Amino acid sequence: MSHPPAHGLVPGESERRRTFAVISHPDAGKSTLTEALALHARVIGEAGAVHGKAGRKGVVSDWMEMEKTRGISITSAALQFAYDEHVINLLDTPGHADFSEDTYRVLAAVDCAVMLLDAAKGLEPQTLKLFDVCRHRGIPVITFINKWDRPGLHALELCDQLEERIGLTPTPLTWPVGESGHFSGLLDRATGEMITFERAPGGARISAEHRLDAGQAEDRFGDEWRAAADEAELLGEFDASSFLAGKTTPLLFGAAVANIGVGHMLQTLTELAPPPSPRPDVHGVPRDLDAPFSGLVFKVQAGMDKAHRDRVAFLRVCSGRFERGSVVTHAATGRPFATKYAQAIFGRDRDTLDVAYPGDIVGLVNATALRPGDTLHERDAPVEFPPMPSFAPENFAVCRSADTSKAKQFRRGVEQLEHEGVVQVLRSDLRGDAAPIFAAVGPLQFEVAAHRLEHEFNCAARMEPLPYQLARRTRPEDRDALDAEHDVEVTERGDGALLALFSDKWRLASVHRRHPGVVLEPLVAGT
Ligand code: GDP
Repeated sequence: MSHPPAHGLVPGESERRRTFAVISHPDAGKSTLTEALALHARVIGEAGAVHGKAGRKGVVSDWMEMEKTRGISITSAALQFAYDEHVINLLDTPGHADFSEDTYRVLAAVDCAVMLLDAAKGLEPQTLKLFDVCRHRGIPVITFINKWDRPGLHALELCDQLEERIGLTPTPLTWPVGESGHFSGLLDRATGEMITFERAPGGARISAEHRLDAGQAEDRFGDEWRAAADEAELLGEFDASSFLAGKTTPLLFGAAVANIGVGHMLQTLTELAPPPSPRPDVHGVPRDLDAPFSGLVFKVQAGMDKAHRDRVAFLRVCSGRFERGSVVTHAATGRPFATKYAQAIFGRDRDTLDVAYPGDIVGLVNATALRPGDTLHERDAPVEFPPMPSFAPENFAVCRSADTSKAKQFRRGVEQLEHEGVVQVLRSDLRGDAAPIFAAVGPLQFEVAAHRLEHEFNCAARMEPLPYQLARRTRPEDRDALDAEHDVEVTERGDGALLALFSDKWRLASVHRRHPGVVLEPLVAGT
């Protein structure tokens, strides 16, 4: 029997992929939903684990001690599982607002997002922030209203919030029969049937579903059923082109903790979410999916495995077929990069990964040269994807080594953190190499940086907060004028950009008034 050439598999394989992330406010149930999705695909605790060992627990990242003690998810894991004919890649995003920069990078690697809302809370601040990123990047959004087993807002009220606050028109696929907290099941708009659930204790198993036709539903649930059917009539039907354009969102109701509505979520992902599409390069030219291999590094994570002290670069395959062991080219330097240590990262566990297709996430272990935004490509088929944009920092602190005899470790550590994009590092002649300024979106990033300097580079550090809140890009010829101003500091970022730091927008405005010719450009946020 003859086999098709390896690259001939690419179109079919990428068509099967669904690569997405869940965006939500902390506590909306993202970890619970992740585990429920994986349970549905039967990778946890049941036979048929995609990556080997069965009975794995804890799919969500908690690699660092800090995450455990604080109970928040700082790092990003990629989880892959098979479902029906599809391969699902679920990328975890940190829930805390201070790590939105990380989340932003993760969203650069997905084709779709699931927006998870708590039925009692509706749209919350962090959801809104992340949704803005999706909108900006043109990522289609599927909405899942969670915790319907508990009292919460009315379903129509939640729909109004979506429409009025973020201009996203919900097109419900299911509609709850009964108020949140007292619900009897879901109306499946596609078939007109009612789905009822037999709750599995604690959501440990998949809850059994039963289907009733409209007549049976009316007999059993009377007014509740009629109210649901009437309400559902008020809302629009799913429409693929407006969904892909980010104007409408398919809406589902459920309770992740009881595994209700989760199967429908998976089905929606496979049927409605888009597969990978050709990614535009720096010139705006899309790279065909079946072009030779290329991939985008969207995140670099260190210290995932204490025993090995390693550093993993997460790469999303954008075109072609990735084969472990091949030597590819690092576009930024033109140097060869050996992919011998490619792995699939599954929470804390890893397995060697041999091949990957567009949409898949590959963890490249000990990839010291790679940074977020870098492109890797097959040797004679160059491409470069646009660099990863960074958020505008709003927090600034001087970092100093607590032990002056460790200057070398300190310098090495700071360079590494800068390289990975954990914080932005600003330097000035005035402060010297021993006292760089760290700039971050949220102050928790400083804690991560200090923790890593101490535990990975054996060099405890002190962070001294600075009274600045704003950075503006300026030019060398404007330096003298700015240096003469009090409370304004001009620094140089690793990429050579000159950044002037200001305590607040009023101080910025007054400097601007006095020196109208000086360039003070915003560092574009979220773009
Ligand atoms: P995350 O911070 O978004 O990852 O949220 P978690 O998954 O940790 O969930 C936060 C809390 O909400 C936990 O106590 C969960 O057990 C609970 N929770 C999650 N989903 C549901 C649900 O469908 N119904 C109810 N009643 N509680 C839920």
